Amino acid sequence: MAKQYDVIIIGAGPSGTSCAYNIKRFNPQARVLLVDKADFPRYKPCGGGVSPEVQNYFDFDLQAGIDSICNEVVMIANGKQISSNKHPLWMVRREKFDNFLLSKARSIGVSFMSSCEVHEVIQENNTVKLLSSKGEFNAKVVVIAEGGLGKLAKKLGYTVKNTVLAGMEYEHYTQKLDGKLYIDFDYNDSGYAWNFPKSDGLSLGIGGFVKGQDKGKVGLPQKLKNYSKQFAVNEFEKKNLHGHPILLYSGRQKLVHGNVIMVGEIAGCVDPLTAEGIRPAIKSGFLAAKVIAYSLKQKNLKSLVNYDVAFHQEIGRDFYSARIMSYFLNKNLKRILPMLSSESAINGFMSVFSGASSYRQKIGFKRICKLIWKSIF
Ligand SMILES: Cc1cc2nc3c(=O)[nH]c(=O)nc-3n(C[C@H](O)[C@H](O)[C@H](O)COP(=O)(O)OP(=O)(O)OC[C@H]3O[C@@H](n4cnc5c(N)ncnc54)[C@H](O)[C@@H]3O)c2cc1C
Repeated sequence: MAKQYDVIIIGAGPSGTSCAYNIKRFNPQARVLLVDKADFPRYKPCGGGVSPEVQNYFDFDLQAGIDSICNEVVMIANGKQISSNKHPLWMVRREKFDNFLLSKARSIGVSFMSSCEVHEVIQENNTVKLLSSKGEFNAKVVVIAEGGLGKLAKKLGYTVKNTVLAGMEYEHYTQKLDGKLYIDFDYNDSGYAWNFPKSDGLSLGIGGFVKGQDKGKVGLPQKLKNYSKQFAVNEFEKKNLHGHPILLYSGRQKLVHGNVIMVGEIAGCVDPLTAEGIRPAIKSGFLAAKVIAYSLKQKNLKSLVNYDVAFHQEIGRDFYSARIMSYFLNKNLKRILPMLSSESAINGFMSVFSGASSYRQKIGFKRICKLIWKSIF
C-alpha cells in the first residue's frame, strides 16, 4: 500500500528544504516528506555566494551553516579594478549549507528519504501519486524542487523555454588566500568570471550563454583555465571541475498546476543578470510553504494558486527589471562596460546581490534610457 503524506517535496536543495521547513513551521500538523535522489551531504556546482537576506526566511540562526563572510568585493570592468566593502556576502560550501538546512527541517519533523529518485508524478482526482526508486507515495500536494538538471517538470510539460547559462566551477583548495571576492566582466564576452573565496580555498567559475548553433562551443573549461592562472592555479584536477546548466528567469510562467507546485531553479527562479539562485530558491520555497500551510489548514487546495501571484509580486517583478538590464548588457557588453567600471556601479550591483536593495529600487526610468542610449550609440 502506498504511503500517504500531506506534502511531498522532490529535491533537497535550498528551495526544497526551505519549503519543507517552513510548511512544518507554519503548520506543525502537516505530514511532510522530502526526497532526494542523492545521498546527503552532496556536492552541488556553485560559487556559494549567498545574500545575508536569506536569514529572513527562517526562524533559526543560519551562521552554523555558512563557511565564512566576505567583506571585500573587487570588480574588474573595462580594464579597471574597483573595490567595495559596503556589502558583506556570505560564502557557503553547498555540501555543508544544504545539509545544514536539511538537518533543521528534519529536526522539526520533516521526514527525509535519500537515494530516492522520483520517476513519475501522476495527478489523480485529489491525490498526486509518485513513482520512485523507493516505491509509490501519495500526497495531497507535491512540490517539484528538482533544480536545473531536473526532468520531471519538463516531462509533465510544465516548464517554459528558460534562457540557459552554461556554468563551470573549479574548486581549488589552498591556504594562500586574500579573502577577496572577484567579479571579472572583461574576461568573458557573455557574462562574467568569478573567484569566490572560502576558508579553505577558492571557488573559481565562469558562465556563458548557450544559444542555438553555439551549443557545445562555449569553450568554458579553457576560458576558466586561463582566468584561473592569475590566482596561481595553473593545473586543474579533473575531479574538482564541474559543469552545470543554470536556468535563468525568462518571464512570467505558471508555477501551480493543480496540486503540483514548482519552486527554485526549475521554476526559472534565478536572477537573469547575476545568476544568483540560492536566495531566490529559498525565498520561493518560503512563499510556497506559506500558501501550502494555509491551504492545508483551510482544507482548500484551490488557494494554492495564490503562490503564482506571490511569486510574481515578490520575485518575478524584480527579475523582470533585471532581464531588461541583462538583455542590453549581453547585446552590447563592450559599449556598456565603461558604465560598469565605476564605484557607484559596483555598489549598486552588490547592494542588489547582498539583498540590501532591489532592481526596482536601483533601476529608474533614467537609467534604463541611459543603458539603451549607450548600447545603441
Ligand atoms: C557554476 C554555478 C555557480 C553558481 N553560483 C551561485 C552563487 O554563487 N550564488 C547563488 O546564489 N547561486 C549560484 N548558482 C545557482 C544555484 O546553485 C542554484 O540556482 C540553486 O542551487 C538552485 O536551488 P534548487 O533548490 O532549486 O536546486 P538544487 O540546489 O539544484 O537542488 C535540486 C535537488 O533535487 C534533486 N533531484 C533532482 N531530480 C530529482 C528526482 N527526480 N528525484 C529526487 N530528487 C531529485 C537533486 O539531487 C538536488 O539535490 C550557481 C550555479 C552554477 C551552476
